[in-house]
Amino acid sequence: VLQADKVCKSFASGKLHTQVLNGLSLSIDPGELTLISGPSGCGKSTLLAILSGLQKVDSGRVHALGSELGQLDLRALEHFRLQHTGFVFQGFNLFPALTALEQVELPLNHMGLSKQEARARAHQSLEEVGLSHRIKLRPSELSGGEKQRVAIARALAKEPELLFADEPTSALDAANGQTIIDILHTIARTHGTTVLCVSHDPRLVAHADRVLAMEDGRILSDRRPDAEAPKETSP
Ligand code: ATP
Ligand code: MG
Repeated sequence: VLQADKVCKSFASGKLHTQVLNGLSLSIDPGELTLISGPSGCGKSTLLAILSGLQKVDSGRVHALGSELGQLDLRALEHFRLQHTGFVFQGFNLFPALTALEQVELPLNHMGLSKQEARARAHQSLEEVGLSHRIKLRPSELSGGEKQRVAIARALAKEPELLFADEPTSALDAANGQTIIDILHTIARTHGTTVLCVSHDPRLVAHADRVLAMEDGRILSDRRPDAEAPKETSP
């Protein structure tokens, strides 16, 4: 459902040239919850941006939901992102002037849902992340964890086929983090959503179908926690 083929990506600013992705290949199966881990600066956020069509590759190919992203024109790429993907950014990316409810409604309106349907879905999604009592507040009036939950509600409300989440539990306390983990787990299990998530949270690792470790711009290891031998020696 999502495939990267020998993807290279570098950034140049002045004399500094950073090779971030270095011939990275991966293939993600539909409906799986895949976790990406790796040291700070190894290119995890860049990889998510590329797989979700937010950034272009220097070389290599990305196939998502049957399209090669590099072949799509701007309109088609925009359509792909709006209709089929949800993204929870590391820095939340909320609009300062909008209330929590409006943040969630906005992409739904752009997707072409009726006003009533957008509102109903936004309410439901904010309730799922435990924010029903905060819907009228703007980002400046929300705590870090609440902002993160608004960002998650906004992505979930779209009911995307592909959900990208960049460290979605990092700003949350244990209880709220667990709520988000349960939600991610549930949507992968019951809605069949393909979830690609950057995280070091050990609780998420336990729920993941697959864990990819990145280093030096490539996938260093690829494991399935479930398939590993149980730790107990005998029952
Ligand atoms: P973290 O765990 O700290 O979030 P990361 O693995 O998500 O790190 P990236 O954000 O993908 O890392 O960044 C990888 C490297 O690419 C970093 O060295 C960063 O400085 C560089 N980089 C990312 N985006 C840009 C950009 N737009 N311009 C220049 N350099 C960039
Ligand atoms: Mg990052």
